[in-house]
Amino acid sequence: MVEKEIGELQAKTLAAIAAARSTEELEPVRVAALGRKGTLAQISKEMGKLSPELRASAGKLLNAAKQALEEAFERRKQEFEQSALRARLEAEWIDLTLPAPGPRLGSLHPITQIQAEIEDLFVSLGFMVLDGPEVETEYHNFDALNMPPDHPARDAQDTFWLTDGHVLRTHTSPVQVRGMERFQPPLRMIAPGRAFRNESVDASHEHTFYQIEGMMIDHDVSVAHLLYFMKTLLAGIFRREVTVRLRPGFFPFVEPGFELDIQCLICGGSGCPVCKQSGWVELLPCGLVNPNVLRISGLDPDRWNGFAFGLGLTRLVMMRYGIDDIRLLQSGDLRFLQQF
Ligand SMILES: [Zn+2]
Repeated sequence: MVEKEIGELQAKTLAAIAAARSTEELEPVRVAALGRKGTLAQISKEMGKLSPELRASAGKLLNAAKQALEEAFERRKQEFEQSALRARLEAEWIDLTLPAPGPRLGSLHPITQIQAEIEDLFVSLGFMVLDGPEVETEYHNFDALNMPPDHPARDAQDTFWLTDGHVLRTHTSPVQVRGMERFQPPLRMIAPGRAFRNESVDASHEHTFYQIEGMMIDHDVSVAHLLYFMKTLLAGIFRREVTVRLRPGFFPFVEPGFELDIQCLICGGSGCPVCKQSGWVELLPCGLVNPNVLRISGLDPDRWNGFAFGLGLTRLVMMRYGIDDIRLLQSGDLRFLQQF
């Protein structure tokens, strides 16, 4: 009677083990058969009522059944673990024979690109490219450019003053002063680089911006020379002929001084939102070098004269690429930079 019970239990449990589809499904089957209150425990309890001989043979059978079931559970559990491992290996599989994607190619910042183009252009016209310190003396940034301490033009430049009296240069013009100090005329030089002003930053103002300033000193330099070089420069940058006009403008280091406008490249001069319906876009200040500036740097204004101009690279880049927020240029945002 007990033998039959054990046999049936074993067969039923083995079938349940085979039918289980996961470790989670297996566990209740194990508890029902082998648990402390499971079927085998019940049978074992009932065996107390049997005669000693029957009890001995039934006990053997029970132990054998218990062992067989434990082994079956263990085997099934291992099968589940192995298939889980196989699934994970399959999911995380990497083909090491695939070619590597390689390093991502970078690109030059749009300001660097336009600066390089303008440098190439001026070098082809016989200009030197000069560099100078970003932390300048007050003398080179202001005094030598005809802006003595009480000159109102100083107020127009919100300046970062250092505690030792130096300044973060407010323009790249001091490099021209250094050029005049170091080289003898005739002189053709451009000075590209960063300039700094204590501006509140918004879509069109930055505390750090890029300029190229240029100067040519020779005998009998006229506004016609200035115009020729500016038109050549702008045709190079915009890759087409541009129409320019000069308006009088005041800058302490030039006399006469001009604002150079270009005819709007968007509307061709008929008027549009970019040029505020005027047909012209203000682009760069320029003029003939003030004799005082030459004198301060030790050149004789009766022998030498020249022209000078300043070009905002930041503004130029924004115009060329239609960038409407100056802050993007220094944001370091790859989504922006990867477009160039
Ligand atoms: Zn326009």
